[in-house]
Amino acid sequence: MLPDFRLRQREYLLEISRAMSARLDLSSLLSLILKSATEIMAGQAGLITLRLADGAYAPRASIGFPVQAVPLLEPLWRDLEDKSVSEEDISLRLAIASRAAGVPMRQVVALPMEIGDEKIGYIFIFRARGVAFSANDIQMLRAFADQAAVAVHNARLYQQVSAERERLNAIIQNSGDGVMMLNAYRIIQTWNKALTNMTGIPPEEAIGQPCYEILSLYNHQERKIFHPQPGELYVEGAHHRADGLKITLSINYAPQYNEDNDIIQYIANVRDMTRLREAEEMKQTLLSVISHELKTPVSIIKGYAGTLAREDANWDKKTLADGLAVIEEEADRLDRLINNLLEASRMQAGGLKLKASYLDLADMARIVVEKLQATTSNHTITIDIPDDFPLIRGDHDRLREVLTNLIGNAIKYSPDGGTITVRGMLGDNDTVRLSISDEGIGIPPADHDRIFERFYRVDNRLARQTPGTGLGLYLVKAVVEAHGGRVWVESTAGQGSTFWIELPIGDNPSK
Ligand code: ADP
Repeated sequence: MLPDFRLRQREYLLEISRAMSARLDLSSLLSLILKSATEIMAGQAGLITLRLADGAYAPRASIGFPVQAVPLLEPLWRDLEDKSVSEEDISLRLAIASRAAGVPMRQVVALPMEIGDEKIGYIFIFRARGVAFSANDIQMLRAFADQAAVAVHNARLYQQVSAERERLNAIIQNSGDGVMMLNAYRIIQTWNKALTNMTGIPPEEAIGQPCYEILSLYNHQERKIFHPQPGELYVEGAHHRADGLKITLSINYAPQYNEDNDIIQYIANVRDMTRLREAEEMKQTLLSVISHELKTPVSIIKGYAGTLAREDANWDKKTLADGLAVIEEEADRLDRLINNLLEASRMQAGGLKLKASYLDLADMARIVVEKLQATTSNHTITIDIPDDFPLIRGDHDRLREVLTNLIGNAIKYSPDGGTITVRGMLGDNDTVRLSISDEGIGIPPADHDRIFERFYRVDNRLARQTPGTGLGLYLVKAVVEAHGGRVWVESTAGQGSTFWIELPIGDNPSK
């Protein structure tokens, strides 16, 4: 029969060992070990050192010493494995080091924590007074140290696994690409930050939901795509964000299989292809615009030139003059078109640089109107600008292009003719305004903003029949905004349009 206190010790040990194996957080496990060991040994202080990767030991937990004094105890764990260090050396070191640490101690026992042959650290228990540690004390501490070693080993393994998992998670979370993981039933398990940025959907909304519902994709026929499907591990389609933005997403699925060849999960890379597809579309539009728009004037010019040059024909003066006028007009159109294309690509490449000088918009409007009036007989272009209209600072050539584009459009999109009026007036906050009104086909409200986008043309029969690139208003807006001004349109379909530009006057001597 074991004496009572031994039994109680046993029970206590058992309890602690249960508690130890349940604790996976290393630092709280070490304090539990140390607290229990100090209690069992009836010590006043304790210390745990753990072996580092380079073989040296470092303190990891202490009890009974002020934390900042623990490094002063170093002589105790230094050379501990050196057999030539005698018991007396240790006692001497203990006396010196513990006094230096401010807590004088008289006895110490140090027991290694071992897993097989591998030493992972030491448990030190100190007594300030009283009897020396007995053989029985040491035996019990040894049994305890072995259990503690296993618990520490497990906690370290767990720590490693958690660190590894955190690292993996950090890689997934911070990846520039969207990354998600699905289980075998296509339910979202992981959803990273890039995906939230791309779609506006936070992880708490996505996780636990079927992937094709959350990341709904539509094909060109606006039909919903079911994904992932066996054999179709790459999908691309349009996704409608909750804020109304439409984006193009591509998803690349990598299924993972178990030994029975069943899919256990999918890892998916999601990319936002919107820009790329837009750029491709833009390139396509540019090519078709160029080929269509350049071809027409060139073939007209070639046709007229060929006809006029026929040696067998004896053209009268008027026919010659008319023919040459058509050639000149078409050459002008080509020139404008090429200018617009060059300007647009220059603008895309590096912004817009203005050459500012003082200029008279009223004068400029008169010159442009005169030139364009000569190209049409069924439109009447009038100018209504007050005499005291101020000079402004701006880029002469570019603003002239703006007026040419706006008045040119007013003619182009009033196929039945009518009056076109160019008005000038003062705006608010030291600005001037010009408006160009026509009695043409008008523009539906939904298109009022979009017509200023690159290559955008209103989708109606007349616009399709009228030559154009959809670049004019894009350039108008860019130039006006580069001047610090703004441009907008007021129009009702079928009832004509009024385009407005507002420009700051700038530091003007005539103001
Ligand atoms: P383009 O005239 O070469 O097509 P713009 O950028 O100048 O290109 O104009 C874009 C679109 O805006 C035109 O295709 C046309 O549909 C519409 N638009 C521009 N000006 C007018 C106008 N005065 N009246 C009606 N529609 C217009």
